[in-house]
Amino acid sequence: MNSTTGLSGKSVIVTGAGSGIGRTAALLFAAQGARVVLADINAEGTEATAEAIAVAGGTAVTAIGDLSDQEVVDRVVTTAVDACGGIDVLVNNAGIMDRMSAVADIGDEEWERVLRVNLTAPFLLTRAALPHLLATGDGAIVFTASEASLRGSAAGAAYTASKHGIAGLTKSLAVTYRDQGVRTNAIAPGGTTTSITAGLDIESHGVGVLGKYMVNVGRRATTDEQAAAIVFLASAAASNINGVILPVDNGWSAV
Ligand code: NAD
Repeated sequence: MNSTTGLSGKSVIVTGAGSGIGRTAALLFAAQGARVVLADINAEGTEATAEAIAVAGGTAVTAIGDLSDQEVVDRVVTTAVDACGGIDVLVNNAGIMDRMSAVADIGDEEWERVLRVNLTAPFLLTRAALPHLLATGDGAIVFTASEASLRGSAAGAAYTASKHGIAGLTKSLAVTYRDQGVRTNAIAPGGTTTSITAGLDIESHGVGVLGKYMVNVGRRATTDEQAAAIVFLASAAASNINGVILPVDNGWSAV
């Protein structure tokens, strides 16, 4: 894969790199020879990712904090520029689940937090990183969208709205910057084994509300399967792929 990805020596920001899909993607970028900025609110998990990359002989730096905070966003960009010499690839992957609630059951706080973390935070980081991505003349942005970007029966209303927003942001960026050397794509994972629902009471919400609609979902993916798709979309092998929301869902979206 190394010869076709063109990622060796590139500067890559991965958000949500302290766990799950983001951690696996960060490890895979580093294995391609990229220098990776690991951005996450979870310091312990992020340090563990950095350690794993170092043990494997790769290069990574960490930027810890809440990405819905502009100060943290600016620090992530500064870290990438100072430690890695710029930004070639931005992976907007960090996200949180809702409680899989219907509209009537969502309080203002849950709605605002989910939209802030899942949609506004990636917007803030993309806006801050864009001048650097444009400066490369060959930049790539990859979002982790969701099956909930494609249908109304994969999560609660807040998460679904946030991830449909990511699909729109992906397409808008793809069109706006396609003649300026920045491609933008997204993966849309189906159910994937990570810790994203840990500590959430989704049984009393999602199963009751969405249970009868959540059919034919296919087998759960591994984080390796999602990370491979992220790295592909960021790589030179995807040089004419722009504005795609790529399902990585064992065919759920095809049912
Ligand atoms: P995860 O919980 O293992 O990883 C998410 C990471 O994002 C965590 O390390 C967390 O600390 C970080 N994070 C959360 N809020 C943050 C914030 N405000 N600032 C900085 N970092 C923050 O879960 P995952 O499944 O690997 O999730 C990654 C992405 O995949 C998310 O965008 C999620 O919506 C999406 N996704 C997951 C699934 C699934 O089934 N696991 C399905 C579809 C989409």
